Amino acid sequence: AEPRLVAARATRISPRLTLLVLHDITERERVEQMRRDFVANTSHELKTPVGAVSLLAEAIESAADDPPQVRIFATRLSAEASRLAQLTSRILNLSRLQASDELTDERDVAIDEVVASAVDANAILADSAGVSVVRGGERGLYVRGDAQVLGEAVGNLIANAIAYSPRGSKVGVGITLTDAVVEIAVTDRGIGIAEGDQERVFERFYRADPARARRTGGTGLGLAIVKHAVQRHGGEVRLWSRPGRGSTFTIRLPAVDAPVDDRPERPDRR
Ligand code: ADP
Repeated sequence: AEPRLVAARATRISPRLTLLVLHDITERERVEQMRRDFVANTSHELKTPVGAVSLLAEAIESAADDPPQVRIFATRLSAEASRLAQLTSRILNLSRLQASDELTDERDVAIDEVVASAVDANAILADSAGVSVVRGGERGLYVRGDAQVLGEAVGNLIANAIAYSPRGSKVGVGITLTDAVVEIAVTDRGIGIAEGDQERVFERFYRADPARARRTGGTGLGLAIVKHAVQRHGGEVRLWSRPGRGSTFTIRLPAVDAPVDDRPERPDRR
């Protein structure tokens, strides 16, 4: 077991009785350290796109008499601005997931609908990467939770599978039920992840190959969001990967019964 740091406060109640109050400061310190790290990496990560945006704005100003050049800078400015927008929205989502223990909108969620809309949300990305996303598996499975948070988690896995796959390859998204656990598996035949990186990729801002991740427009927050979103739902994420062969990320969530009005009608027995 982990060694525990304990703070003690002694209060003399009577000459023969001393009350010793012990409390665990490890957890409090750990959370505080995490918060400090988060603020530090976040400001570091924001500096690059913010710097690029202001440099490009200056470049546009000084190229005012050269319209073709202005157009080139403006295109790059707009790309940097959307990266910045994605980064800030992911930072907000992640800090929201880390901040409270409660899900704001909890209901019975049809997992095939979550998967279908996550696939749709990535259709343009898949098209431009020349990757086809194939969806399959069981329908009519439910989990308890927030459809939007789960959709973002599944969507992040699909977006990564597309981003780290070669043109012309396939990404599979499957749903299965095993021992009351709903499994959503996202499989690609892409670059894969080295064994030493497999645990670390779930840390925020960790990238196995920083140069490549930046080219794919990554923020380094996608998998941290997946992990927190799934844990918040009482589930877990598993990763199987082999460099050069591909990866499978599996989200596992406790299954719940279908809501009564969604169950298939029983045949009339009269
Ligand atoms: P990013 O926005 O950089 O993709 P993520 O948190 O989503 O950040 O992923 C962290 C890192 O994990 C990526 O930079 C990449 O190195 C690696 N990674 C994630 N998904 C895959 C995948 N499907 N195939 C190969 N590498 C992946």
